[in-house]
Amino acid sequence: MSTAVVRNVTIQTGHLIGGAWVSSPETFETRSPMDWSTVLAEVSRGDATTADAAVAAAQDGFVAWSAYTPSERAEVLRRLADLIDARNDDIALVETIDMGFRHESMRERLVARGALNFRTYADIIERSGPAGEAEQWDAKNTSHTVIRMPAGPAVVITPWNAPFMLATWKLAPALAAGNSVLFKPAEWSPLSAALLAELTVEAGFPPGAFNLVQGIGSEVGAALVADDRVRRISFTGSPETARHIGKAAAENLVPFTAELGGKGPLVVFADSDLDLAVKRAAEQYEDSGQVCLAGTRLLVEESIADEFRAALEAATAAHVLGDPLDDATSVAPVVHPDHLDSIDGFVRRAEAAGDNIIRGGNKVDGSMHFELTLIEPASNDSEIVQREVFGPVLTFQTFADEAEAVALANSTSYGLSALIFTGSQERAERVGRAVRAGIIWVNTFLVRDLEAPFGGTGLSGIGREGGRYALEFHSDLKTLIIADGSTE
Ligand code: NAD
Repeated sequence: MSTAVVRNVTIQTGHLIGGAWVSSPETFETRSPMDWSTVLAEVSRGDATTADAAVAAAQDGFVAWSAYTPSERAEVLRRLADLIDARNDDIALVETIDMGFRHESMRERLVARGALNFRTYADIIERSGPAGEAEQWDAKNTSHTVIRMPAGPAVVITPWNAPFMLATWKLAPALAAGNSVLFKPAEWSPLSAALLAELTVEAGFPPGAFNLVQGIGSEVGAALVADDRVRRISFTGSPETARHIGKAAAENLVPFTAELGGKGPLVVFADSDLDLAVKRAAEQYEDSGQVCLAGTRLLVEESIADEFRAALEAATAAHVLGDPLDDATSVAPVVHPDHLDSIDGFVRRAEAAGDNIIRGGNKVDGSMHFELTLIEPASNDSEIVQREVFGPVLTFQTFADEAEAVALANSTSYGLSALIFTGSQERAERVGRAVRAGIIWVNTFLVRDLEAPFGGTGLSGIGREGGRYALEFHSDLKTLIIADGSTE
């Protein structure tokens, strides 16, 4: 059993397989964007043998966990939620240091919502029948009962941004459905996953119901998704990786969901509350834009474009780039030097292609920050408009009327989210329905009841998370038909 200590918090650096911590001889390093010179932890680097052992344990775990009634499962899920709340400070601290998002938002928003995810799914399965019945009716002298069967071991693979909260979105429905899980977090931010795994042991899941496998995506991740004993794959990350995983899922005929990148429009009509629109637009820089849901394409009605741009510049200039543990910091650092290079590459290519860099555009010397950047593209076809940067880079374009706004909003291959600012309820309905995306926020941002579906269209993904939608994905439905004895 090997551990690392981050600011007095002891963290397991191995895998949790079948209820026991095991280490691999090979490791990978995780470092903090707050101080890249220091190695935070050497984490076990799982391989094909690790994946094989973990899937075998998950099969055993599935037998035990799927036999729990929905209320028994709900009790364990609620216990886990309480344990997360009790360790909120440690989880938020470790995750901030490991991946760099601001501590304040980790503590108050992301980790707290992680606990709420488990509570929400406890509530949802308790509302179902005591034995997982989804529906029941009588017809043709028979009773029809539709039963949700747990599907089997589920692989859950997550990205490095907001890793704790994102993982709970996927793990809570899988576990609530009665599946065992094989959780593979991203190698750039693996530590909060270990704290979660520790809490699952305390919460009382049977051994093998919750397995944590650490390692590199193309190694142990690929081995997990290729295993034909796995019955569901739930993935969040980039479209490139989703293509690999989709091929493995197709090979074994396993359903998979993919929550992928975004290139959301943020549309501002002249009739909107300009202060609110500007505030929300400037917020897209927080966490250095490493948020899939961010509205990174600013589309502003021509008549207010100059006024909007001046106000946005003032709001952007007020941002504080700094230490994510400091509550005064409003913009978090970039997670990894390779990602800084990737953001820089996008901006350099935009510059070379003739896009106009209105503000920022460079790495900040001596830190892991990239300047808050605004670019006026030469054309809507520019790469900087069409591809996800996942950094603090917004584009600025104008539109003449509602039809052009909708056309521009729908002009990329992505379709994850959109933000619309307008003072008109009729326009909110009209434009909200016309824009193609999995979630549309009008005059607000990031609010979502956990029972509502979440996911993307186009390059932004396949399938939906949230509420009963994810529960359905993790279940197989069975129709049980029993004659009432009045006929043969
Ligand atoms: P990524 O695709 O590089 O990696 C995601 C995960 O996949 C990691 O755990 C990685 O180890 C694993 N992986 C990599 N190759 C694999 C393989 N061949 N087989 C199995 N697993 C493999 O993505 P990333 O850079 O970690 O995350 C950033 C991306 O995630 C962005 O595109 C962002 O928009 C997207 N994202 C989407 C959502 C959403 O909910 N839609 C949320 C957050 C992030």
